[in-house]
Amino acid sequence: MPYDHVAVESKWRELWAKHKIFEVNPSSKPKYFITVAYPYPNSPQHVGHGRTYTLADVHARFRRMQGFNVLFPMGFHYTGTPILAMSKRIAAGDQELIDLFKTLYHVPEEQIKNFTEPLNIARYFHEEIRTGMQEMGYSIDWRREFTTIDPVYNKFIEWQFRKLQSKGFITRGSHPVGWCPSCGNPVGQHDTQGDKEPEIGEFVAIKFKADGFYLVAGTLRPETIFGVTNIWVNPEATYVEAEVDGERWVVSKRAAEKLPLLGKKATVLRELKGSELLKLEVEVPLTGRKVRVLPAEFVDPNNVTGVVMSVPAHAPYDYLALRDLAIREDYLAKYGFSRSEIKQISPIQIIKVKDIPGVPAVYVVEQLGVKDQNDPKAEDATKEVYSKEFHHGVMMENTMEFSGMPVSEAKEKVREKLIEMGAATIFYELLNRPIYCRCGAEVVVKIFEDQWFIDYRDPSWKQLAKECLRNMRIIPEDLRQEFENVIDWLREKACARKSGLGTRLPWDPDWVIESLSDSTIYMAYYIVSKYVNLYNLKAVQFGDEVFDYVFLGEGDPVKIAEKYKLPIDVLSGMRREFSYFYPLDARHSGRDLVPNHLTFFIFNHVAIFPREFWPRAIVVNGSVLMEGKKMSKSLGNIIPLRDAIREFGADTIRLAVISTAEILQDADFSIPLAKSIREKLNDFYDLVQKVVSVGAGEKTPRQLTYLDKWILSRIEKAVAHVTNAMENFRVREAIHTVLYVLDQEVRWYLRRALGGKPIDGKTSWVLRKVLNKWIRLLAPFAPYLAEETWSMIGGDGFVSLAEWPSVEEQWINEQVELEEEFFKAVIEDTQEILRVTSIKPKVVYYYTAPQWKWKLFREMISLFEEGSFNLGSFIKESMKKEEIRAKGKEAVSFIQNASKYMTSLSPEMRRGILKMSIDEQAVLERSRGFLEKLFNAQVKIFRADSPDIVDPAGKAKGALPLRPAIYLEGG
Ligand SMILES: [Zn+2]
Repeated sequence: MPYDHVAVESKWRELWAKHKIFEVNPSSKPKYFITVAYPYPNSPQHVGHGRTYTLADVHARFRRMQGFNVLFPMGFHYTGTPILAMSKRIAAGDQELIDLFKTLYHVPEEQIKNFTEPLNIARYFHEEIRTGMQEMGYSIDWRREFTTIDPVYNKFIEWQFRKLQSKGFITRGSHPVGWCPSCGNPVGQHDTQGDKEPEIGEFVAIKFKADGFYLVAGTLRPETIFGVTNIWVNPEATYVEAEVDGERWVVSKRAAEKLPLLGKKATVLRELKGSELLKLEVEVPLTGRKVRVLPAEFVDPNNVTGVVMSVPAHAPYDYLALRDLAIREDYLAKYGFSRSEIKQISPIQIIKVKDIPGVPAVYVVEQLGVKDQNDPKAEDATKEVYSKEFHHGVMMENTMEFSGMPVSEAKEKVREKLIEMGAATIFYELLNRPIYCRCGAEVVVKIFEDQWFIDYRDPSWKQLAKECLRNMRIIPEDLRQEFENVIDWLREKACARKSGLGTRLPWDPDWVIESLSDSTIYMAYYIVSKYVNLYNLKAVQFGDEVFDYVFLGEGDPVKIAEKYKLPIDVLSGMRREFSYFYPLDARHSGRDLVPNHLTFFIFNHVAIFPREFWPRAIVVNGSVLMEGKKMSKSLGNIIPLRDAIREFGADTIRLAVISTAEILQDADFSIPLAKSIREKLNDFYDLVQKVVSVGAGEKTPRQLTYLDKWILSRIEKAVAHVTNAMENFRVREAIHTVLYVLDQEVRWYLRRALGGKPIDGKTSWVLRKVLNKWIRLLAPFAPYLAEETWSMIGGDGFVSLAEWPSVEEQWINEQVELEEEFFKAVIEDTQEILRVTSIKPKVVYYYTAPQWKWKLFREMISLFEEGSFNLGSFIKESMKKEEIRAKGKEAVSFIQNASKYMTSLSPEMRRGILKMSIDEQAVLERSRGFLEKLFNAQVKIFRADSPDIVDPAGKAKGALPLRPAIYLEGG
């Protein structure tokens, strides 16, 4: 019977639920607590979402089989405004959205009508997502499910915020935030197209005095003011003269629009073209030097002030732009400049860097061979110069009182001085602009007044976060630096809004806590939610004292239970369960959450919980591409997860989203990939069917052949390899072994052992032994097929709860593995000769290496492994021996050939040769029938020094150890 994934999957899903195998409580076993960021129910999940959740489930299943009491729960994140915005669009009859719901998400028309009420959207997709997760076979304890608008959850978040406030981590005031001018709201990653987190940079806007106004340039490096040689404006862009807080400023038109958001009063007086500013002479603050305004296309009027100060000694782009300009005669002429004017401008060096001789920007540009400002290497040069100067640069004697100061310090000091003397002001701008709000408007920076913030700037808090990070496992480890950087640059984070679903700020209920702030420690709430759901507990039963007791062990449980009308065993049960499951062992998430959620998660844990409950690991994965392209609604290449499951089965989809890439890389999903995986799984099922159809097989094998021993050894090696890969989150590699390598080896075994005959009782015994482990290795990845085949071979209970296979050393047989590897290599060599010569042989002759060659070969390898092999001296030493000298030229040419051959062998092979001896002739002889059938020829095997050798072509002398000489006799 062919494999019916629909029937099999629904059968096991029901059995898992009926036997509650994923519902866990504290026990005497060691625990493992794993979570994934809960989903936001404003649409069904698509194939791309499947990756993070599947990786977490694979991880959970692996740990469970290793004997851990694994808790894997799930909740739903209703908080925020996107659902509100969606319901408004539905109410307004937005046809595009309605069509999306109808055609892509298959929402019934009746249902869409209800979507004018935001909660109905959340409830509908909540159900949809939960069903999809169940269909995917995620081993979740669903008793703990909750949403972030549940009244008890609100109590929990209130408790968290009062805790943060009592520790001084909540501030109110004016701070820059990412802002959507159209929605009138601060925006975070969840609100932007492409989920980009707005990163705010603190630029310094420096005023260069001109005749009657200031030309204001933005920079991140105020300390380089001493090296300014000119100013850049874009001659084609529109600028304005504006009255800004009582001064006349010239900035780009776009910059003038941003000024009010940054707390400046700005009145535009007139518009002008950039070209009108050219040739102006402006005065550099502090130095008083006069510099010219020059034209540059690279100046982006939408970035900061649209005016750039040029520091060619320390900014590769400025150096390159000047160099490029000096040869653009037409361009210069157009704006009335001459080449000599430009050539006169030379870099003014003001920073010394120890390992850079001369002017840093010039030196690095030359070294990297950057062609011009459009060369992508210009960016590398910039990064290198900035980083070296920041970390190792010292201000030179031409920088007034800053002379001798490290650049990192001068940066702050110069900025302070410029601001103090009224020559500069702070100008916030997005570092990763442009970012667009989901509504379509471009996100800008706004100084947000009277807003509530979580103060991630606090240095002592940052220290604790770093301490936690140091003790955590970060997978992959490459991301650790990124986390450190985020901890460093995080500043005040707006934590509440005036609208949206969620929890109200307990001390100022006009405000609703936003979604990146109410999702930082909720992993702890999965303990509470089980009791809320099982005992139908109410919000009034949860005051701060209850949470203080459950999470911090503070207070008298008897008094607290009485006060809140909680059964004492419920209250103490929550405390016991929290102490058992916490800390969290692994937090899984996509890479986009590193700069926000995952870092907030660290901060809030260290703020609230004692060290023993700090999280232990973060696991971050890349995203999923669809046939190499990013998935997006506009590209129309989104496949809803449940559609994919219906078509291919959950096991196939699980494998398809996690098997093509290691964890941080992007995985690539495609229909052909899913089809080929489905085929592999079907083949696996067929094999198991064939094995079990022979009956239970013999109880014990009569005697194992070398082939039986070989496959039984290979499965043990696979167990070792897969276990190691899984421990280190190399999931792709684990799947490769389970799905492809083992498959090939079992098929090779069948071909060799049976030669096309059907599986017999004896082979079936061996295969059952292999399958018993193989199925368990498959179980975390394809749990449904694993359960089905496990029950077919008579496995005990659910494979989901079976013990992860361990390596049984007694089955490992290096000797037969080496022999089989040798045998395969001989076949490959023969096939290669057949291919090259296209002879149809009547006889295939093999000549195996004589003992003296083996002896020399081992000596060579032994020296090589020690790192002291030298061909010339080896020949010389060998020739001193009488028995070798007797072989004459044959010995020399053997050593020469063997030394090349030796380096081409794998290290395992070399070590194998040192440890073991192989009777090549016997290995070939015992499989002669197989070879004769394979080559459709007679096969003759001789030792090269055999007295009765038949060697018509004189090939025998070319035999190497493990590489017999081959002669094909045509027909
Ligand atoms: Zn917007």
